[in-house]
Amino acid sequence: MRVLLVEDHQAIREMIADHLRERGFAVDAVGRGEQALAAARVAPIDAVVLDLGLPDTDGISLLTALRSLHADVPAIVVTARDGLDERLLGLNSGADDYIVKPFNLLELEARLRAVLRRAGSRRESRYTLGGVTFDTVTREATAFGRPLDLTRREAALLEELLRMPGQVITKDLLEDRLYALEDAGSANALEAAVSRLRRKLAGAQVRLSIETKWGIGYRLVEATAR
Ligand code: CA
Repeated sequence: MRVLLVEDHQAIREMIADHLRERGFAVDAVGRGEQALAAARVAPIDAVVLDLGLPDTDGISLLTALRSLHADVPAIVVTARDGLDERLLGLNSGADDYIVKPFNLLELEARLRAVLRRAGSRRESRYTLGGVTFDTVTREATAFGRPLDLTRREAALLEELLRMPGQVITKDLLEDRLYALEDAGSANALEAAVSRLRRKLAGAQVRLSIETKWGIGYRLVEATAR
């Protein structure tokens, strides 16, 4: 899942981004409203975490502008205690939730997952197919009940494939969902992640395979029992 993080305080921005990346999110982290809009124009976003006080705009105006590009994108506003004005508390801001600085990173993550769950009834918290189970909250995958050791990128790839089994998912869409803009560059990163995940699935002898549709993308296929 891809999160757009807008926070002008560099140390806080990096701390949040590092935490969310470790927890399996692709994070585009920017410090200004104009950069946030530029990032939002080129790629889908699953959620926004934004600071209320930004150098070139305020967080609520930015959220309105972001929603004109991605209607209904779930948003969490981060604010200093003195930024808790009527507009925010009345939730007229359009934010789904807010969190007051200083905050605990685990709490921010929990709130982010909660707004994502509320936003998308299409998103399951757990997928099971072909002997594989993937828990989107703990990020743990198992094969016939045994732990499947995946990197966070492989786990994110498996999650995207499990969301739409049997359907071809384009490489562009997968790259948008798995890689933040700043890590784009290595053209073969997705292919390499697919190869590794394919090898691990085969090694665990599950009834799932990843088919390549040349020039288009990938498809997760459940093998029928013989
Ligand atoms: Ca700020």
